[in-house]
Amino acid sequence: MDSRSVYTTDKGRQCPECGRPVASCECAAKRSGPKGDGNVRVGRQTKGRKGKGVTLITGLPLGEDGLKELARELKQKCGTGGTVKDGAIEIQGDHRDMLVEELKRRGFSAKRSGG
Ligand SMILES: [Zn+2]
Repeated sequence: MDSRSVYTTDKGRQCPECGRPVASCECAAKRSGPKGDGNVRVGRQTKGRKGKGVTLITGLPLGEDGLKELARELKQKCGTGGTVKDGAIEIQGDHRDMLVEELKRRGFSAKRSGG
């Protein structure tokens, strides 16, 4: 078995390099170099969307696995659907305040953006 592959425990998937949950691990991002300015933006997108649109989280210093894991947990938190697209997490509905708080709790410097 590849020692670098992500393994599963009862606490969820953890990074084999730092032992943190993949949802808050920055190893993948460090390997691929820094992205953005380190600030996570939580904005809203309503264009072409029905109802409240989606909450869009961009600038996360996570790899694909981390993004998917984090998206899964945030969807649970909001009780809604969502997806990972182009390195960003989309959560259905407007959950900006809750998501900024949740991301800060996880150690990200998250900011609300847009109106
Ligand atoms: Zn890690």
